[in-house]
Amino acid sequence: MTEPLTGIHHVTAIASDPQRNVDFYAGVLGMRLVKQTVNFDDPGTYHFYYGNALGHPGTILTFFPWPGARRGRRGAGQIGATAFSVPVASLGFWRERLTASGVDAAVETRFGQDLLTFTDPDGLALELAGDPGAESIPGWDGGPVAAQHAIRGVHSVTLWEANADLTDETLRGALGFTAADQAGERTRYHILDSDLDSDLDSDSNSAIRAAIGTRVDVLHLPGTAPAMGGAGTIHHVAWRTGNRDQQQAWQARISARGLHVTDILDRQYFASIYFREPGGVLFEIATDPPGFTLDETPDALGTALKLPPWYESQRTVIERALPPIRLSGREGARG
Ligand code: ZN
Repeated sequence: MTEPLTGIHHVTAIASDPQRNVDFYAGVLGMRLVKQTVNFDDPGTYHFYYGNALGHPGTILTFFPWPGARRGRRGAGQIGATAFSVPVASLGFWRERLTASGVDAAVETRFGQDLLTFTDPDGLALELAGDPGAESIPGWDGGPVAAQHAIRGVHSVTLWEANADLTDETLRGALGFTAADQAGERTRYHILDSDLDSDLDSDSNSAIRAAIGTRVDVLHLPGTAPAMGGAGTIHHVAWRTGNRDQQQAWQARISARGLHVTDILDRQYFASIYFREPGGVLFEIATDPPGFTLDETPDALGTALKLPPWYESQRTVIERALPPIRLSGREGARG
């Protein structure tokens, strides 16, 4: 028996210039860079993880920044947008902050919530949703954005699908999500009933578990050209599971549905399996433990290049190949 997936673990995207990426996410958006490491499949490239104070699952957006990378194209079989939760009362603050940073934001209402839509410097589609659930979640108080306004975590992702039927079958049948709402071509799925979820976890993370990363939207776009990967596009979304035993059960369950799923891979801060849903979007299932404090203290998160043990012997060569970055976002004026 597989335990339910408990939400979005992280979203991973592709960027071009690493410094510009840090300046935007740690600076303009005020997220915490919780880990600087390398792409474990390509150690000549950085892997940046941004999140809340400790990089709790559900708050994480990660990037592979490839200097000079060609821009991709949004399209079918891809995640078209990532939304983050902020308090409803903070939307005005965010609109002003984005405008002051030269970022054009449009306002939209979706399933009763107002959101700002905009793009990052590589053209990646982002959204800030005014979410009543965000207010009960603490914001990081060490960044350039005051804790009251800080991004709390991932609100939802939107899958772009040319044919939504098989994706619907995977989300509901294989992964156990619930179709909860529909408006036009957009269907919203809930990953887990939040009341049930908060019963599972009584620690201080329970509010985060209940409100963050528990929604997935599918946008049905028949006739849309397939996506092309590249800078400014999402690479994959990862769903949360509690431990490796549960992950193994998920691996068997997905395989039994005829989908090709990878072996369990050690990502140092979590363990991962990957598979493509029928529409083409790459899914991952990642374990909550051990998390980002595995190799750095909470205070020091993200301040130094960390390598997994199997790359430590190549540190000199790896460091020489990576462009140095500055964490100037941390000293920015508080909003
Ligand atoms: Zn991932």
